Amino acid sequence: MSVGRLNLSHGSPDDHHSYVKFLRQAAEEMGVAVGILADLPGPKYRVGEMEMPEISLVTGQHFIFQQEPRRGNSERASVWPFGLHSDIKKGSPILIDEGSVELRVEEIDGEEIHCRVTMGGLMKPNKAVTAPGNTTTVDYFTPETEEALSFVIGSDIDFVGLSYVRDGGDIERVRKFLAEAGKTPQLVAKIEIQQAVDNLTSIFAESDAVMVARGDLGVELPFEHVPSVQKRIIRMANEIGKPVITATQMMESMIEQSSPTRAEVTDVYNAVRDGTDAIMLSAETSIGKFPFKAVQAMTRIAKRAERFLEYPKLADRRRAAAFKGGLAVDDAIADGAAVAAASLNAKAIVAFTESGSTAGRVAAYRPITPLLALTPDIGAGAKLALRWGVIPVVVKKHLNIQDMFTAGSDLALETKIAKEGDVIVAVVGLPIGVPGTTNLLRVIKLPEPTGFK
Ligand code: PEP
Repeated sequence: MSVGRLNLSHGSPDDHHSYVKFLRQAAEEMGVAVGILADLPGPKYRVGEMEMPEISLVTGQHFIFQQEPRRGNSERASVWPFGLHSDIKKGSPILIDEGSVELRVEEIDGEEIHCRVTMGGLMKPNKAVTAPGNTTTVDYFTPETEEALSFVIGSDIDFVGLSYVRDGGDIERVRKFLAEAGKTPQLVAKIEIQQAVDNLTSIFAESDAVMVARGDLGVELPFEHVPSVQKRIIRMANEIGKPVITATQMMESMIEQSSPTRAEVTDVYNAVRDGTDAIMLSAETSIGKFPFKAVQAMTRIAKRAERFLEYPKLADRRRAAAFKGGLAVDDAIADGAAVAAASLNAKAIVAFTESGSTAGRVAAYRPITPLLALTPDIGAGAKLALRWGVIPVVVKKHLNIQDMFTAGSDLALETKIAKEGDVIVAVVGLPIGVPGTTNLLRVIKLPEPTGFK
């Protein structure tokens, strides 16, 4: 795994603090950079607490959703955050847990929503309550989202997932709020409602990465729309050069079974071939019976898919978009590194990166050559873990360019990625430490002679 996700809609801050601690410890013991993504509830409605672990709703029965936070039973349950009654109309369908239970609104009486169950099933606390086709008017900063943001501020988090974003404005506000508290995690916009699909341009402009959150997306939109929206978002992310995560139900059957269905294998394989940066597991690893096997299976499928990746086609997506409006120096160097490495049969591209921007930019050109990101900042390494193809390596800070070249040469030889006589490509931004200045490309024949000044 490259990134661990904490869904802040479930569990307590104490639970989450201990997960962060365990993740950091495990990553350190293994000597790998692992990112942590904390997912905010956002203005997404969920079932409140209940008197029992689950209730069985029967087709045809009457059921009430209320705003008042009271433990639910087989007749009524509360919904949080406050506001569902003003977002829906008489006749609106309501789906619980991505369609496990379906209801229809018969009447809205003040803050009480009277419904008829149209398809019975089990309802559990905290499961999603969706009203397809209705936009949420609730302020992005719900009390639960503010609580989750306080957790992020008091913890060591690399990525913040924004559930139910509607447009770039929601992302801008969260970024400002965190920046005022001195925090600058990367912001991942979860695309899960029609409004977000309609506002992809502003969402991409304001976010650092996006997630195709297929669970909610397949309820908010007719499910047959999900594959084309997924492909569109992946293509757009590749063009813009920002990471994209494909999420939900990827290995769903592995919650109960020790191996995936053939359809799941094909889904993961196709997402990788389509150009996704990351693939995500949810229930498979949080409550499933085979969390380790699920990660292993996904890794095997992704590795197989990468053998058949159409590198030139994916690089062309980014190249064509970057060329529009004139190519910037940093993109010319990043693209040049990928092209030079392939044509010289280089064994590695070594990107020296303080903020992670240089390595991220090279990754956007999907180099066929392994890409090592050498960074002195463990946080930058963790953020690069989400990027396609980047192997983050934390190194000591180098104050001059020659030390960087020597360190790149040593690392390539020590890790046996390359041997003496092989070639590696180094990419650097000068002056050292200023993000967004990828401006130097060098080809190094190994070993780099020592003693240069
Ligand atoms: C999703 O809906 O697909 C998703 C990733 O969001 P969550 O897991 O928070 O429901």
